[in-house]
Amino acid sequence: MRLDRILFRLLTFPSPPGGEGVVSSFCAGFLAGCGFDVKVDRLGNVAAKRGNGPFILLVAHLDDWGHPKKRGFRVLPGGLVVSATGSPLGGDDKCGVALALSLACDPRRPLAVLLTVQEESGGLGCREFVRENTEWFADVSACLVLDRRGEGDVVARIGTHILDPGGSFRRRVMEAGAAEEVPVRLVDGAFSDVLTLRLLTGLPAANISVGYHLPHTAGEYVSLPHLRRARRWVRRVLDTARGV
Ligand SMILES: [Zn+2]
Repeated sequence: MRLDRILFRLLTFPSPPGGEGVVSSFCAGFLAGCGFDVKVDRLGNVAAKRGNGPFILLVAHLDDWGHPKKRGFRVLPGGLVVSATGSPLGGDDKCGVALALSLACDPRRPLAVLLTVQEESGGLGCREFVRENTEWFADVSACLVLDRRGEGDVVARIGTHILDPGGSFRRRVMEAGAAEEVPVRLVDGAFSDVLTLRLLTGLPAANISVGYHLPHTAGEYVSLPHLRRARRWVRRVLDTARGV
């Protein structure tokens, strides 16, 4: 399924933190249909692998700030997707989820995906999943979180925490973005699942922009051109940085 269509489908699901059941089931079914070994924990986190590692793990979160009963969007000229209801659109983080699912459709690539719940409640879902599934990360070499607003940002630090102290994964991410003509830049970020993953797994990590803008507001929108370019960026990271 094409990236745009996957995003449009995801934007219709109600997904408040703690109420991700429908979208969690949809994503688990989607990934199983693409040949993944899928595991869904009791909270609704979806973890999936296909092929052999070492993997660069793609991470996105299933919950959003949209009103569960006021889902709806319009596509404006230029590929801007806006809310049709006055409630936040939910591009944060349906863009990241759509991007991961669309790359999962390509059967040639070994891939690992983690779609978390309750990120917007302080990262509860991710924390619980990592604590209970330490062994699941044994063949993961780095975490690429798809949950940053705008275009081209690479979150390299949160507070005093450097997300890739060694720097080689971050460098590959930057180089892959530049090769796809994404306007990459290093930024400091706020809390997201990337910090949980970094602190609890010790793996190198980064969080990159996936094309949603003005998150958590009624004016939130998605730039489809930014999202499509982010997809090319992530594909290049997977093709060049495997096993970093
Ligand atoms: Zn987010």
